[in-house]
Amino acid sequence: MPSYDYDIGIIGGGAAGLTVAAGSAQLGAKTLLIEKEKELGGDCLHYGCVPSKTLIRTAQVYHLMKTSTKFGLPGVKVPPVKYTHITKRIQSVIGTIQEHDSVERFCSLGAKVIFGTPVFSDDHAIRMNGETYTAKRWVIATGSSPAAPPFKGLTETPYLTNKEIFSLDRVPESMVILGAGPIATEMAQAFCRLDTEVHVVQRSGQILSREDKDMADLVMEALRSEGVRFYLNSTVQHISSHGEDSQEVVIKQGDNTPVSLKAEKILVAMGRKPNISDLGLGGIDVAFDRKGLKVDDRLKTTRKHIYGAGDVTGVYQFTHAAGYEGGIVVSNAVFHLPRKVNYKWIPWCTYSDPELASIGMNEKRAKEAGISYSTFTEPFAGNDRSLAEGERVGKIKMLLDEKENPIGVQILGPHAGELLNEWVAALNGKVKLSTLASAVHPYPTLSEINRKVVGAYFSPKIFSDKVKKGLKLFFQLKGRACESEA
Ligand SMILES: Cc1cc2nc3c(=O)[nH]c(=O)nc-3n(C[C@H](O)[C@H](O)[C@H](O)COP(=O)(O)OP(=O)(O)OC[C@H]3O[C@@H](n4cnc5c(N)ncnc54)[C@H](O)[C@@H]3O)c2cc1C
Repeated sequence: MPSYDYDIGIIGGGAAGLTVAAGSAQLGAKTLLIEKEKELGGDCLHYGCVPSKTLIRTAQVYHLMKTSTKFGLPGVKVPPVKYTHITKRIQSVIGTIQEHDSVERFCSLGAKVIFGTPVFSDDHAIRMNGETYTAKRWVIATGSSPAAPPFKGLTETPYLTNKEIFSLDRVPESMVILGAGPIATEMAQAFCRLDTEVHVVQRSGQILSREDKDMADLVMEALRSEGVRFYLNSTVQHISSHGEDSQEVVIKQGDNTPVSLKAEKILVAMGRKPNISDLGLGGIDVAFDRKGLKVDDRLKTTRKHIYGAGDVTGVYQFTHAAGYEGGIVVSNAVFHLPRKVNYKWIPWCTYSDPELASIGMNEKRAKEAGISYSTFTEPFAGNDRSLAEGERVGKIKMLLDEKENPIGVQILGPHAGELLNEWVAALNGKVKLSTLASAVHPYPTLSEINRKVVGAYFSPKIFSDKVKKGLKLFFQLKGRACESEA
Protein backbone atom coordinates (compact mmCIF):
# COMPACT_ATOMS: atom_id res chain seq x y z
CA MET A 1 0.00 0.00 0.00
CA PRO A 2 1.53 3.33 -0.96
CA SER A 3 1.65 5.84 1.86
CA TYR A 4 0.62 9.46 1.47
CA ASP A 5 1.24 12.60 3.54
CA TYR A 6 -2.48 13.33 3.87
CA ASP A 7 -5.76 11.42 3.76
CA ILE A 8 -7.34 14.21 1.78
CA GLY A 9 -5.99 17.26 -0.04
CA ILE A 10 -8.32 20.08 -1.07
CA ILE A 11 -7.48 22.74 -3.63
CA GLY A 12 -9.50 25.92 -3.16
CA GLY A 13 -10.59 27.58 0.08
CA GLY A 14 -14.06 28.82 -0.91
CA ALA A 15 -17.51 27.55 0.08
CA ALA A 16 -16.96 24.04 -1.34
CA GLY A 17 -13.36 23.56 -0.19
CA LEU A 18 -13.99 24.91 3.30
CA THR A 19 -16.98 22.59 3.76
CA VAL A 20 -14.88 19.58 2.78
CA ALA A 21 -11.96 20.72 4.96
CA ALA A 22 -14.12 21.32 8.05
CA GLY A 23 -15.98 18.02 7.62
CA SER A 24 -12.91 15.89 6.89
CA ALA A 25 -10.76 17.34 9.65
CA GLN A 26 -13.52 16.97 12.25
CA LEU A 27 -13.97 13.35 11.22
CA GLY A 28 -10.29 12.71 11.93
CA ALA A 29 -8.94 12.64 8.37
CA LYS A 30 -5.49 14.22 7.98
CA THR A 31 -6.53 17.19 5.86
CA LEU A 32 -4.58 19.63 3.70
CA LEU A 33 -6.26 22.76 2.33
CA ILE A 34 -4.51 24.81 -0.37
CA GLU A 35 -5.58 28.32 -1.33
CA LYS A 36 -3.95 30.57 -3.91
CA GLU A 37 -5.18 33.93 -2.57
CA LYS A 38 -3.81 35.31 0.67
CA GLU A 39 -7.01 34.61 2.60
CA LEU A 40 -9.64 31.88 2.78
CA GLY A 41 -13.29 32.47 1.89
CA GLY A 42 -13.33 32.40 -1.90
CA ASP A 43 -15.41 34.48 -4.29
CA CYS A 44 -18.55 34.47 -2.17
CA LEU A 45 -16.87 36.22 0.74
CA HIS A 46 -14.50 38.53 -1.11
CA TYR A 47 -16.03 39.34 -4.51
CA GLY A 48 -19.52 37.79 -4.58
CA CYS A 49 -22.44 37.19 -2.23
CA VAL A 50 -21.18 39.10 0.80
CA PRO A 51 -20.03 42.37 -0.84
CA SER A 52 -22.96 42.34 -3.27
CA LYS A 53 -25.60 41.88 -0.57
CA THR A 54 -23.92 44.52 1.60
CA LEU A 55 -23.90 46.97 -1.32
CA ILE A 56 -27.51 46.11 -2.16
CA ARG A 57 -28.61 46.88 1.39
CA THR A 58 -26.77 50.21 1.40
CA ALA A 59 -28.31 51.17 -1.95
CA GLN A 60 -31.74 50.15 -0.65
CA VAL A 61 -31.43 52.41 2.39
CA TYR A 62 -30.34 55.31 0.14
CA HIS A 63 -33.33 54.59 -2.10
CA LEU A 64 -35.67 54.63 0.92
CA MET A 65 -34.22 58.00 1.97
CA LYS A 66 -34.94 59.38 -1.49
CA THR A 67 -38.48 57.98 -1.52
CA SER A 68 -39.43 58.96 2.04
CA THR A 69 -42.63 60.73 0.93
CA LYS A 70 -44.01 57.36 -0.18
CA PHE A 71 -44.20 56.48 3.54
CA GLY A 72 -45.91 59.73 4.59
CA LEU A 73 -42.59 61.22 5.72
CA PRO A 74 -41.13 64.60 4.79
CA GLY A 75 -39.20 64.67 1.52
CA VAL A 76 -35.43 65.00 2.01
CA LYS A 77 -32.72 66.13 -0.38
CA VAL A 78 -30.03 63.54 0.09
CA PRO A 79 -26.39 64.40 -0.61
CA PRO A 80 -24.44 62.20 -3.08
CA VAL A 81 -22.89 59.05 -1.67
CA LYS A 82 -19.19 58.54 -1.10
CA TYR A 83 -18.39 55.09 -2.46
CA THR A 84 -15.30 54.80 -0.25
CA HIS A 85 -17.60 54.90 2.79
CA ILE A 86 -19.62 52.07 1.28
CA THR A 87 -16.51 50.02 0.48
CA LYS A 88 -15.43 50.52 4.09
CA ARG A 89 -18.73 49.01 5.25
CA ILE A 90 -18.31 46.17 2.75
CA GLN A 91 -14.79 45.46 4.05
CA SER A 92 -16.00 45.52 7.64
CA VAL A 93 -18.72 42.92 6.92
CA ILE A 94 -16.18 40.78 5.04
CA GLY A 95 -13.73 41.17 7.94
CA THR A 96 -16.27 39.90 10.47
CA ILE A 97 -17.14 36.85 8.38
CA GLN A 98 -13.45 36.27 7.61
CA GLU A 99 -12.89 35.38 11.27
CA HIS A 100 -15.11 32.35 10.73
CA ASP A 101 -13.07 31.39 7.68
CA SER A 102 -9.68 31.99 9.30
CA VAL A 103 -6.59 29.76 9.11
CA GLU A 104 -6.64 29.58 12.93
CA ARG A 105 -10.18 28.21 12.95
CA PHE A 106 -9.35 25.53 10.40
CA CYS A 107 -6.17 24.66 12.26
CA SER A 108 -8.22 24.31 15.45
CA LEU A 109 -10.47 21.89 13.59
CA GLY A 110 -7.37 19.89 12.61
CA ALA A 111 -6.78 20.96 8.97
CA LYS A 112 -3.44 22.30 7.70
CA VAL A 113 -3.82 25.36 5.47
CA ILE A 114 -1.13 26.42 3.03
CA PHE A 115 -1.10 29.18 0.42
CA GLY A 116 0.13 28.92 -3.15
CA THR A 117 -0.73 27.68 -6.63
CA PRO A 118 -0.37 23.91 -6.89
CA VAL A 119 0.20 21.81 -10.01
CA PHE A 120 -0.51 18.06 -10.09
CA SER A 121 2.75 16.21 -10.66
CA ASP A 122 0.93 12.87 -10.60
CA ASP A 123 -2.59 11.85 -9.67
CA HIS A 124 -1.77 11.70 -5.95
CA ALA A 125 0.76 14.54 -5.70
CA ILE A 126 0.96 18.27 -6.24
CA ARG A 127 4.04 20.51 -6.48
CA MET A 128 3.92 23.89 -4.88
CA ASN A 129 6.50 26.40 -3.61
CA GLY A 130 9.25 23.89 -4.43
CA GLU A 131 7.67 21.13 -2.29
CA THR A 132 5.68 17.99 -3.06
CA TYR A 133 2.50 17.14 -1.12
CA THR A 134 0.78 13.79 -1.50
CA ALA A 135 -2.74 12.75 -0.55
CA LYS A 136 -4.79 9.59 -0.91
CA ARG A 137 -7.74 11.59 -2.20
CA TRP A 138 -7.92 15.05 -3.73
CA VAL A 139 -10.76 17.52 -4.09
CA ILE A 140 -10.70 20.24 -6.73
CA ALA A 141 -12.79 23.15 -5.48
CA THR A 142 -11.17 26.05 -7.29
CA GLY A 143 -14.36 27.91 -8.21
CA SER A 144 -14.97 30.08 -11.25
CA SER A 145 -13.99 33.47 -12.67
CA PRO A 146 -15.85 36.03 -14.76
CA ALA A 147 -15.86 34.98 -18.40
CA ALA A 148 -14.70 37.59 -20.92
CA PRO A 149 -16.85 37.41 -24.05
CA PRO A 150 -14.95 37.70 -27.36
CA PHE A 151 -16.31 41.17 -28.22
CA LYS A 152 -14.32 43.24 -30.67
CA GLY A 153 -12.28 45.78 -28.72
CA LEU A 154 -13.00 44.42 -25.22
CA THR A 155 -9.44 43.34 -24.45
CA GLU A 156 -8.11 46.82 -25.31
CA THR A 157 -10.77 48.52 -23.16
CA PRO A 158 -10.67 48.86 -19.37
CA TYR A 159 -13.68 47.08 -17.91
CA LEU A 160 -14.94 45.98 -14.52
CA THR A 161 -16.01 42.57 -13.26
CA ASN A 162 -17.18 41.39 -9.85
CA LYS A 163 -13.51 41.49 -8.78
CA GLU A 164 -13.27 45.28 -9.07
CA ILE A 165 -16.82 46.56 -8.65
CA PHE A 166 -16.85 46.49 -4.83
CA SER A 167 -13.63 48.50 -4.41
CA LEU A 168 -14.04 51.49 -6.74
CA ASP A 169 -12.94 54.88 -5.45
CA ARG A 170 -16.21 56.61 -6.41
CA VAL A 171 -19.66 55.88 -7.78
CA PRO A 172 -19.44 55.98 -11.60
CA GLU A 173 -21.63 58.58 -13.26
CA SER A 174 -22.65 56.07 -15.90
CA MET A 175 -22.22 52.36 -16.54
CA VAL A 176 -22.98 49.91 -19.33
CA ILE A 177 -23.63 46.42 -17.98
CA LEU A 178 -23.12 43.57 -20.43
CA GLY A 179 -25.40 40.67 -19.53
CA ALA A 180 -28.67 40.49 -17.58
CA GLY A 181 -28.26 37.49 -15.30
CA PRO A 182 -28.55 37.66 -11.50
CA ILE A 183 -25.25 39.50 -10.92
CA ALA A 184 -25.95 42.04 -13.67
CA THR A 185 -29.51 42.61 -12.46
CA GLU A 186 -28.50 43.06 -8.83
CA MET A 187 -25.69 45.46 -9.71
CA ALA A 188 -27.83 47.41 -12.19
CA GLN A 189 -30.37 48.25 -9.51
CA ALA A 190 -27.82 48.90 -6.76
CA PHE A 191 -25.79 51.36 -8.87
CA CYS A 192 -28.90 53.00 -10.30
CA ARG A 193 -30.06 53.62 -6.73
CA LEU A 194 -26.66 55.16 -5.95
CA ASP A 195 -27.32 57.58 -8.88
CA THR A 196 -25.29 55.92 -11.64
CA GLU A 197 -26.95 56.09 -15.07
CA VAL A 198 -27.22 52.39 -15.89
CA HIS A 199 -27.63 50.74 -19.30
CA VAL A 200 -28.13 46.96 -19.47
CA VAL A 201 -27.42 45.13 -22.73
CA GLN A 202 -28.94 41.68 -23.15
CA ARG A 203 -28.75 39.39 -26.19
CA SER A 204 -32.06 37.58 -25.56
CA GLY A 205 -35.57 38.98 -25.20
CA GLN A 206 -35.75 38.83 -21.41
CA ILE A 207 -33.56 39.40 -18.40
CA LEU A 208 -32.80 36.53 -15.95
CA SER A 209 -33.20 34.05 -18.78
CA ARG A 210 -33.48 30.94 -16.55
CA GLU A 211 -36.64 32.36 -14.99
CA ASP A 212 -40.17 32.44 -16.40
CA LYS A 213 -40.67 35.50 -18.56
CA ASP A 214 -43.68 36.81 -16.61
CA MET A 215 -41.61 36.87 -13.41
CA ALA A 216 -38.45 38.27 -15.03
CA ASP A 217 -40.45 40.98 -16.80
CA LEU A 218 -41.83 42.17 -13.46
CA VAL A 219 -38.28 42.51 -12.13
CA MET A 220 -37.31 44.42 -15.26
CA GLU A 221 -40.28 46.75 -14.94
CA ALA A 222 -39.39 47.45 -11.30
CA LEU A 223 -35.81 48.36 -12.30
CA ARG A 224 -36.98 50.35 -15.31
CA SER A 225 -39.32 52.39 -13.13
CA GLU A 226 -36.27 53.35 -11.04
CA GLY A 227 -34.34 54.47 -14.13
CA VAL A 228 -32.38 51.44 -15.42
CA ARG A 229 -32.39 51.36 -19.25
CA PHE A 230 -32.61 47.96 -20.90
CA TYR A 231 -31.55 46.99 -24.43
CA LEU A 232 -32.99 43.52 -25.07
CA ASN A 233 -32.42 41.44 -28.22
CA SER A 234 -29.25 43.44 -28.66
CA THR A 235 -25.81 42.30 -29.77
CA VAL A 236 -22.53 44.02 -29.05
CA GLN A 237 -20.82 45.20 -32.26
CA HIS A 238 -17.67 46.69 -30.83
CA ILE A 239 -16.27 48.27 -27.72
CA SER A 240 -13.74 51.09 -27.52
CA SER A 241 -12.05 53.30 -25.00
CA HIS A 242 -11.67 57.08 -25.27
CA GLY A 243 -9.83 57.46 -21.96
CA GLU A 244 -9.84 55.91 -18.49
CA ASP A 245 -13.38 57.08 -17.70
CA SER A 246 -14.85 57.21 -21.18
CA GLN A 247 -15.90 53.93 -22.78
CA GLU A 248 -18.16 53.22 -25.70
CA VAL A 249 -20.22 50.13 -26.50
CA VAL A 250 -21.86 50.00 -29.91
CA ILE A 251 -24.79 47.61 -30.01
CA LYS A 252 -27.22 46.50 -32.68
CA GLN A 253 -30.80 46.22 -31.52
CA GLY A 254 -33.26 43.57 -32.71
CA ASP A 255 -34.53 45.82 -35.49
CA ASN A 256 -30.91 46.34 -36.62
CA THR A 257 -30.73 49.90 -35.27
CA PRO A 258 -27.19 50.63 -34.14
CA VAL A 259 -26.94 52.41 -30.79
CA SER A 260 -23.82 53.92 -29.27
CA LEU A 261 -23.75 53.73 -25.48
CA LYS A 262 -21.14 55.98 -23.88
CA ALA A 263 -20.35 55.46 -20.23
CA GLU A 264 -17.67 55.99 -17.64
CA LYS A 265 -17.46 52.26 -16.84
CA ILE A 266 -18.33 48.93 -18.40
CA LEU A 267 -19.29 46.01 -16.15
CA VAL A 268 -18.97 42.60 -17.77
CA ALA A 269 -21.32 40.05 -16.17
CA MET A 270 -21.76 37.45 -18.89
CA GLY A 271 -21.26 34.14 -17.19
CA ARG A 272 -18.42 32.30 -15.52
CA LYS A 273 -15.52 30.10 -16.53
CA PRO A 274 -14.06 27.32 -14.35
CA ASN A 275 -10.69 27.87 -12.65
CA ILE A 276 -8.87 24.81 -13.97
CA SER A 277 -6.29 25.99 -16.46
CA ASP A 278 -3.24 26.12 -14.14
CA LEU A 279 -3.73 22.83 -12.25
CA GLY A 280 -2.00 20.52 -14.71
CA LEU A 281 -5.12 18.37 -15.11
CA GLY A 282 -4.21 17.32 -18.66
CA GLY A 283 -1.20 15.39 -17.31
CA ILE A 284 -3.29 13.25 -14.92
CA ASP A 285 -6.26 12.45 -17.19
CA VAL A 286 -8.87 14.43 -15.30
CA ALA A 287 -11.44 15.38 -17.91
CA PHE A 288 -12.96 18.84 -18.19
CA ASP A 289 -14.59 21.02 -20.79
CA ARG A 290 -15.44 24.69 -21.27
CA LYS A 291 -18.11 24.49 -18.56
CA GLY A 292 -15.99 22.77 -15.93
CA LEU A 293 -14.74 19.54 -14.43
CA LYS A 294 -16.56 16.42 -15.57
CA VAL A 295 -17.92 14.67 -12.49
CA ASP A 296 -20.32 11.78 -11.95
CA ASP A 297 -23.27 11.86 -9.57
CA ARG A 298 -20.95 11.03 -6.65
CA LEU A 299 -18.81 14.03 -7.68
CA LYS A 300 -15.89 11.83 -8.76
CA THR A 301 -13.87 13.05 -11.71
CA THR A 302 -12.55 10.69 -14.37
CA ARG A 303 -9.89 9.80 -11.74
CA LYS A 304 -11.99 8.06 -9.09
CA HIS A 305 -9.96 9.32 -6.11
CA ILE A 306 -10.14 12.95 -7.31
CA TYR A 307 -13.40 14.77 -6.63
CA GLY A 308 -14.83 18.07 -7.87
CA ALA A 309 -17.18 20.37 -5.96
CA GLY A 310 -18.59 23.88 -6.29
CA ASP A 311 -18.52 26.33 -9.20
CA VAL A 312 -15.64 24.46 -10.87
CA THR A 313 -18.07 21.71 -11.91
CA GLY A 314 -20.19 24.32 -13.72
CA VAL A 315 -23.50 22.91 -12.46
CA TYR A 316 -25.37 25.10 -9.93
CA GLN A 317 -23.09 28.06 -9.25
CA PHE A 318 -24.34 29.09 -5.83
CA THR A 319 -22.68 29.11 -2.43
CA HIS A 320 -25.30 26.80 -0.92
CA ALA A 321 -24.87 24.38 -3.85
CA ALA A 322 -21.09 24.43 -3.28
CA GLY A 323 -21.65 23.69 0.41
CA TYR A 324 -24.07 20.89 -0.43
CA GLU A 325 -21.60 19.34 -2.86
CA GLY A 326 -18.84 19.69 -0.27
CA GLY A 327 -20.98 17.62 2.12
CA ILE A 328 -21.51 14.94 -0.55
CA VAL A 329 -17.73 14.72 -1.08
CA VAL A 330 -17.11 14.29 2.66
CA SER A 331 -19.68 11.51 2.72
CA ASN A 332 -18.13 9.69 -0.23
CA ALA A 333 -14.42 10.34 0.31
CA VAL A 334 -14.10 10.27 4.10
CA PHE A 335 -17.17 8.56 5.53
CA HIS A 336 -17.27 5.96 2.72
CA LEU A 337 -21.04 6.34 2.82
CA PRO A 338 -21.88 6.49 -0.89
CA ARG A 339 -24.10 9.50 -1.64
CA LYS A 340 -25.26 10.90 -4.95
CA VAL A 341 -26.08 14.52 -5.66
CA ASN A 342 -29.74 15.36 -6.09
CA TYR A 343 -30.43 18.87 -7.30
CA LYS A 344 -34.22 18.51 -7.40
CA TRP A 345 -34.86 20.99 -4.61
CA ILE A 346 -31.86 23.31 -4.95
CA PRO A 347 -33.30 26.79 -4.41
CA TRP A 348 -31.88 30.14 -5.50
CA CYS A 349 -32.68 33.79 -5.29
CA THR A 350 -31.85 36.95 -7.21
CA TYR A 351 -31.57 39.76 -4.69
CA SER A 352 -33.16 42.49 -6.73
CA ASP A 353 -35.93 44.55 -5.16
CA PRO A 354 -38.36 42.80 -5.42
CA GLU A 355 -36.43 39.56 -4.96
CA LEU A 356 -37.04 36.59 -7.23
CA ALA A 357 -36.66 33.21 -5.54
CA SER A 358 -37.16 29.80 -7.07
CA ILE A 359 -37.23 26.13 -6.15
CA GLY A 360 -37.93 23.14 -8.37
CA MET A 361 -39.61 23.49 -11.72
CA ASN A 362 -40.75 26.73 -13.22
CA GLU A 363 -42.90 26.76 -16.36
CA LYS A 364 -39.85 26.96 -18.63
CA ARG A 365 -38.14 23.95 -17.06
CA ALA A 366 -41.37 21.94 -16.86
CA LYS A 367 -42.01 22.51 -20.57
CA GLU A 368 -38.42 21.55 -21.42
CA ALA A 369 -38.84 18.34 -19.41
CA GLY A 370 -42.19 17.59 -21.08
CA ILE A 371 -44.05 17.67 -17.75
CA SER A 372 -47.74 18.63 -17.74
CA TYR A 373 -48.48 21.09 -14.99
CA SER A 374 -51.01 23.55 -13.64
CA THR A 375 -50.17 26.88 -12.02
CA PHE A 376 -51.65 28.70 -9.03
CA THR A 377 -50.75 32.30 -8.26
CA GLU A 378 -51.38 34.90 -5.59
CA PRO A 379 -50.36 38.56 -5.85
CA PHE A 380 -48.53 40.44 -3.10
CA ALA A 381 -51.06 43.22 -3.67
CA GLY A 382 -53.49 40.94 -1.78
CA ASN A 383 -51.15 40.45 1.20
CA ASP A 384 -51.94 42.83 4.07
CA ARG A 385 -48.39 43.00 5.39
CA SER A 386 -47.03 43.70 1.96
CA LEU A 387 -49.37 46.69 1.62
CA ALA A 388 -48.37 47.97 5.06
CA GLU A 389 -44.72 47.71 4.00
CA GLY A 390 -45.44 49.73 0.86
CA GLU A 391 -44.74 46.75 -1.41
CA ARG A 392 -47.28 45.95 -4.09
CA VAL A 393 -45.24 44.37 -6.85
CA GLY A 394 -44.95 40.62 -7.18
CA LYS A 395 -46.64 37.29 -6.86
CA ILE A 396 -46.12 33.68 -5.89
CA LYS A 397 -46.49 30.95 -8.49
CA MET A 398 -46.92 27.29 -7.54
CA LEU A 399 -46.70 24.49 -10.10
CA LEU A 400 -48.45 21.15 -9.60
CA ASP A 401 -47.96 18.09 -11.76
CA GLU A 402 -50.75 15.93 -13.19
CA LYS A 403 -51.11 14.10 -9.86
CA GLU A 404 -51.46 17.48 -8.17
CA ASN A 405 -48.11 17.18 -6.37
CA PRO A 406 -46.06 20.36 -6.06
CA ILE A 407 -43.11 20.44 -8.48
CA GLY A 408 -41.93 24.01 -8.04
CA VAL A 409 -42.51 27.43 -6.56
CA GLN A 410 -41.36 30.87 -7.60
CA ILE A 411 -41.77 33.93 -5.44
CA LEU A 412 -41.30 37.45 -6.70
CA GLY A 413 -41.70 39.97 -3.94
CA PRO A 414 -40.34 41.48 -0.76
CA HIS A 415 -37.96 39.09 1.06
CA ALA A 416 -38.81 36.32 -1.42
CA GLY A 417 -35.56 34.50 -0.56
CA GLU A 418 -36.67 34.22 3.07
CA LEU A 419 -40.27 33.31 2.17
CA LEU A 420 -39.04 30.49 -0.04
CA ASN A 421 -37.53 28.69 2.96
CA GLU A 422 -40.96 27.45 4.05
CA TRP A 423 -41.12 25.70 0.68
CA VAL A 424 -37.57 24.40 1.08
CA ALA A 425 -38.68 22.62 4.26
CA ALA A 426 -42.08 21.57 2.88
CA LEU A 427 -40.77 20.13 -0.39
CA ASN A 428 -37.76 18.39 1.14
CA GLY A 429 -39.95 17.01 3.92
CA LYS A 430 -42.72 15.98 1.49
CA VAL A 431 -45.19 18.01 3.55
CA LYS A 432 -48.74 17.65 2.22
CA LEU A 433 -50.38 20.71 0.71
CA SER A 434 -53.28 20.18 3.10
CA THR A 435 -50.85 20.50 6.04
CA LEU A 436 -49.52 23.78 4.66
CA ALA A 437 -53.04 25.04 4.06
CA SER A 438 -54.18 24.28 7.60
CA ALA A 439 -50.99 25.48 9.35
CA VAL A 440 -51.77 28.76 11.10
CA HIS A 441 -49.39 31.53 10.05
CA PRO A 442 -49.01 34.68 12.16
CA TYR A 443 -50.92 37.71 10.88
CA PRO A 444 -49.90 39.96 9.25
CA THR A 445 -46.85 38.34 7.67
CA LEU A 446 -45.55 38.19 4.14
CA SER A 447 -45.33 34.41 4.42
CA GLU A 448 -49.11 34.12 4.61
CA ILE A 449 -48.81 34.23 0.82
CA ASN A 450 -47.40 30.67 0.94
CA ARG A 451 -50.53 29.42 2.65
CA LYS A 452 -52.76 31.52 0.43
CA VAL A 453 -51.45 30.06 -2.83
CA VAL A 454 -52.15 26.59 -1.47
CA GLY A 455 -55.62 27.86 -0.57
CA ALA A 456 -56.04 28.93 -4.19
CA TYR A 457 -55.61 25.26 -5.09
CA PHE A 458 -58.04 23.96 -2.41
CA SER A 459 -60.71 26.68 -2.61
CA PRO A 460 -62.47 25.49 -5.78
CA LYS A 461 -62.52 21.95 -4.36
CA ILE A 462 -63.86 22.92 -0.91
CA PHE A 463 -66.36 25.51 -2.10
CA SER A 464 -67.57 23.50 -5.09
CA ASP A 465 -71.26 23.12 -5.99
CA LYS A 466 -70.96 19.41 -5.20
CA VAL A 467 -69.83 20.06 -1.61
CA LYS A 468 -72.52 22.73 -1.18
CA LYS A 469 -75.21 20.37 -2.45
CA GLY A 470 -74.06 17.64 -0.06
CA LEU A 471 -74.09 19.97 2.95
CA LYS A 472 -77.51 21.28 1.99
CA LEU A 473 -78.84 17.77 1.74
CA PHE A 474 -77.39 16.49 5.05
CA PHE A 475 -77.69 19.58 7.24
CA GLN A 476 -80.56 21.47 5.58
CA LEU A 477 -78.46 24.59 5.02
CA LYS A 478 -80.62 27.39 3.70
CA GLY A 479 -78.20 28.82 1.12
CA ARG A 480 -77.44 32.44 0.21
CA ALA A 481 -78.59 35.24 2.49
CA CYS A 482 -77.83 37.96 -0.01
CA GLU A 483 -77.88 38.17 -3.77
CA SER A 484 -75.52 40.68 -5.34
CA GLU A 485 -76.94 42.83 -8.10
CA ALA A 486 -74.08 42.23 -10.49
C1 LIG B 1 -21.20 39.15 -7.68
C2 LIG B 1 -21.58 37.75 -7.24
C3 LIG B 1 -22.65 37.60 -6.38
C4 LIG B 1 -23.02 36.33 -5.96
N1 LIG B 1 -24.07 36.21 -5.11
C5 LIG B 1 -24.45 34.98 -4.70
C6 LIG B 1 -25.52 34.84 -3.78
O1 LIG B 1 -26.13 35.83 -3.37
N2 LIG B 1 -25.86 33.60 -3.37
C7 LIG B 1 -25.20 32.48 -3.82
O2 LIG B 1 -25.54 31.37 -3.43
N3 LIG B 1 -24.16 32.59 -4.69
C8 LIG B 1 -23.77 33.81 -5.12
N4 LIG B 1 -22.70 33.92 -5.97
C9 LIG B 1 -22.01 32.69 -6.41
C10 LIG B 1 -21.03 32.21 -5.35
O3 LIG B 1 -20.10 33.22 -5.06
C11 LIG B 1 -20.31 30.97 -5.84
O4 LIG B 1 -21.25 30.03 -6.27
C12 LIG B 1 -19.46 30.34 -4.73
O5 LIG B 1 -18.46 31.24 -4.33
C13 LIG B 1 -18.83 29.04 -5.22
O6 LIG B 1 -18.01 28.50 -4.24
P1 LIG B 1 -16.74 27.64 -4.65
O7 LIG B 1 -16.15 27.13 -3.39
O8 LIG B 1 -17.07 26.70 -5.71
O9 LIG B 1 -15.76 28.71 -5.33
P2 LIG B 1 -15.06 29.96 -4.70
O10 LIG B 1 -15.81 30.53 -3.59
O11 LIG B 1 -14.71 30.88 -5.81
O12 LIG B 1 -13.72 29.38 -4.09
C14 LIG B 1 -12.70 28.87 -4.89
C15 LIG B 1 -11.38 29.13 -4.21
O13 LIG B 1 -10.35 28.45 -4.93
C16 LIG B 1 -9.22 29.31 -5.02
N5 LIG B 1 -8.43 28.88 -6.19
C17 LIG B 1 -8.70 29.06 -7.50
N6 LIG B 1 -7.76 28.51 -8.27
C18 LIG B 1 -6.86 27.96 -7.42
C19 LIG B 1 -5.64 27.25 -7.59
N7 LIG B 1 -5.16 26.99 -8.80
N8 LIG B 1 -4.98 26.85 -6.50
C20 LIG B 1 -5.47 27.11 -5.25
N9 LIG B 1 -6.60 27.78 -5.02
C21 LIG B 1 -7.29 28.19 -6.09
C22 LIG B 1 -9.83 30.67 -5.18
O14 LIG B 1 -8.89 31.68 -4.84
C23 LIG B 1 -11.00 30.61 -4.22
O15 LIG B 1 -10.63 30.99 -2.91
C24 LIG B 1 -22.30 35.18 -6.41
C25 LIG B 1 -21.22 35.34 -7.28
C26 LIG B 1 -20.87 36.60 -7.68
C27 LIG B 1 -19.69 36.74 -8.60
